[in-house]
Amino acid sequence: MAQLDIQQKLEILADAAKYDASCASSGTVKRSSRDGKGLGSTDGGMGICHAYAPDGRCISLLKILLTNSCIFDCHYCINRKSSNVRRARFTADEVVQLTLAFYRRNYIEGLFLSSGIIRSSNYTMEQIVEVARSLREDHHFRGYIHLKTIPDADPELVHQAGLHADRVSINVELPTASGLRRLAPEKSESRIEGAMTEMKSAIIDTADATRKYRSAPTFAPAGQSTQMIVGADAATDGDIVRKASTLYDRFGLRRVYYSAFSPIPDASAILPLQRPPLMREHRLYQSDWLMRFYGYGANEVVAAADAETGMLPLDIDPKLAWALKFRGAFPVDVNKGPREMLLRVPGLGTKAVDAILAARRWRRLRLEDVARLTVSVVKVRPFLIAEGWRPGALTDLAGLKTILTPKPKQMELFI
Ligand code: SF4
Repeated sequence: MAQLDIQQKLEILADAAKYDASCASSGTVKRSSRDGKGLGSTDGGMGICHAYAPDGRCISLLKILLTNSCIFDCHYCINRKSSNVRRARFTADEVVQLTLAFYRRNYIEGLFLSSGIIRSSNYTMEQIVEVARSLREDHHFRGYIHLKTIPDADPELVHQAGLHADRVSINVELPTASGLRRLAPEKSESRIEGAMTEMKSAIIDTADATRKYRSAPTFAPAGQSTQMIVGADAATDGDIVRKASTLYDRFGLRRVYYSAFSPIPDASAILPLQRPPLMREHRLYQSDWLMRFYGYGANEVVAAADAETGMLPLDIDPKLAWALKFRGAFPVDVNKGPREMLLRVPGLGTKAVDAILAARRWRRLRLEDVARLTVSVVKVRPFLIAEGWRPGALTDLAGLKTILTPKPKQMELFI
């Protein structure tokens, strides 16, 4: 490996880390002030991403790899052994010094560190742990640390990572075991799930201990998360939704992140040539939201998908798709309906439902009252009864989907 200075390493290893979605800011438009007009940018600086801290604050993290060299050959990964990319490697101390320098300049509030596997899983994990240990113990760093852990590494090393990090994550990579065998043959579903199980036990045990003894060490207080690649294998949205639900139930994950597969240079021939539509990733995040905050079971979300293809519709959101398929559950009376049914009304979010529940204790609500709580009363009307409003035949109208489907927007040709 040619000698590279820190700046060159940072360019390579920050760029290589961008494929990890586990701490990505997404869903915003690209804005930049590099042309000298205006102030600020949504792109972030090189290697800087945004994540949510346990207290809900949005924080900036230095997002880098320790190295983009790897002894594994996962087909979908730009850093795989057979990939023809420029390689670089930080020492543990270089990552520590970079983090401290960025932190002191107020560029970041924490570190997101992942790595390709060098020499062995244990050796790599030792280096990752050393970064976190040194930051916490030698430099008393109180910022946020998110470490990607390696499931094959010695459980004691993975445990050490949890003692220093706020959040730990282990990527399940692909939604099905067959997909993992085909695209990441050196990885094993059972080893990944074994590491997640140990992580879950340690998080629960230490949370119990810290409740009893204030001096007990913390362990990944922001929990564990994972990432699934979407569109690299034949898994349907139904497969992905079921897998995510199982991961939440079995391993108590805080978040499952979905990352639309993006074709990489010199890609393996067994990969698709095109990335899936970005809207697919967005619909999966919406499904995830339905399961975590709206009380939908995985099977209910899957029921909103096309029965033949197992794919969620791209033109409408999964909550509306479910409501259109199960119109017998509507309309819901805004003045009497239970919270769990109001949450199923398309166009009503959790805040709107809570506001409805608070307001209806004092008076009967009209459609105009609901309109003030939603961006689209057109979407709400067919599914809701209010004072002075009944949807009548509108709920069962054959062309209702056409009325409620957002009009396609012309994409910008040049960005
Ligand atoms: S182990 Fe990680 S870095 Fe290495 S090839 Fe697989 S996905 Fe890429």
